[in-house]
Amino acid sequence: MITLGCSKNLVDSEKMLGQLPPGRFQIVPEGEGNAHVVIINTCGFIQDAKEESIDTILETLEKKKNGLVGEVLVTGCLSERYRDELRKEIPEADAWFGVNQPGDLFAYLKEKYLDDSPQRLLTTPSHYAYLKIAEGCDRTCSFCAIPMIRGAYRSHTVNQLVEEAQLLADKGVKELILIAQDLTYYGYDLTGKPMLGQLLKELADISGIEWIRLHYAYPHNFPQDVINLMASNPKICRYLDIPLQHINDDILRSMRRGHGKAGTLAFLEKMRREVPGLALRTTLMVGYPGETDDVFSELMDFVKEMRFDRLGVFAYSPEEGTRAYDLGDPISENVKQERLEAIMELQSGISLQINENKVGQQFRVLVDREDDEFFVARTEYDSPEVDNEVLITKDNRLSIGQFAQVEITAASEFDLYGRVLL
Ligand code: SF4
Repeated sequence: MITLGCSKNLVDSEKMLGQLPPGRFQIVPEGEGNAHVVIINTCGFIQDAKEESIDTILETLEKKKNGLVGEVLVTGCLSERYRDELRKEIPEADAWFGVNQPGDLFAYLKEKYLDDSPQRLLTTPSHYAYLKIAEGCDRTCSFCAIPMIRGAYRSHTVNQLVEEAQLLADKGVKELILIAQDLTYYGYDLTGKPMLGQLLKELADISGIEWIRLHYAYPHNFPQDVINLMASNPKICRYLDIPLQHINDDILRSMRRGHGKAGTLAFLEKMRREVPGLALRTTLMVGYPGETDDVFSELMDFVKEMRFDRLGVFAYSPEEGTRAYDLGDPISENVKQERLEAIMELQSGISLQINENKVGQQFRVLVDREDDEFFVARTEYDSPEVDNEVLITKDNRLSIGQFAQVEITAASEFDLYGRVLL
């Protein structure tokens, strides 16, 4: 299984692998051994992701030609969106599937190899897992092809998710990372009202689950009961990943984001006031049509003033079929790249200052892995793969998946160094 793109794709991959009957299949790490079946779960979010997906398909087909792997099956967003064209252009792939009929890939595999099973086979370390709470998206952000690819928002029910989380907890998972295209909307399609708070309460009651983390929330109409829970329930991490995209009013209006600058600033101020210590992660987009030098300066000022704990930046890429596609792509790739790098450089200085302020403080951490020199852990303010790590010297014996109390002894832009407190 080769998974490209975001953690939502990762969960789809894990669910596909979870269908495999125990003992009938061996999962072969990429690059090792001759897989009989390679499933490529593609991403079609932006131009770079599409290119990476195509390159991966072609590289894998080259391996197939050389007899290193067997069947090559392609699924995921890119395949959903361009399946007919891809089938014509790359006939060497054995089969193409989309994201909206997961049963088709399953039926294909089942016919040749599989039995039914609701289980997931985790590819993350066994102490944390992503929990995908909904499929699709009902928003109409002008730059985004996801609703076209993944369809309308469909929440999984609270009962389904609690059952899945219980199975994960039984396997030793301590941290659940909630994901969806948009967490904020959870439940509206089921009952006409937000249900994220209710879901969080039920997940927090599961014995063994100690951290619950929220990724990909939408800022507009963020539910008050979730804010209250983040402030009061120690199992809900004081962490929020909330992609804001931009801060300029005209750009936000053109992006159809449902809120402007004043609303965004008020929301961020409220979150920080009501959830003390909250770590905010956001994602911004540079190079959207209409982003003049002045507009970009406004975005830089916002980053400077807001001092996000974590921040990622994308360069705009026009996507066929989206509302923004007709606006063209007037900003050159060079300028987009310069702007992206300018924000990342600014953020790197902010991140260093934030981290240096943590020296001398104590944190509870979860140990993710071990390398030659350090145990590598995270605080509740850090998500795996994308955020800071706490590197702990090996003076004390720790085990993977263990919680420990550490004191921070040094800091760099993206890492903290710590020692275990006895
Ligand atoms: S919230 Fe907007 S950016 Fe996110 S998936 Fe939905 S349409 Fe796309």
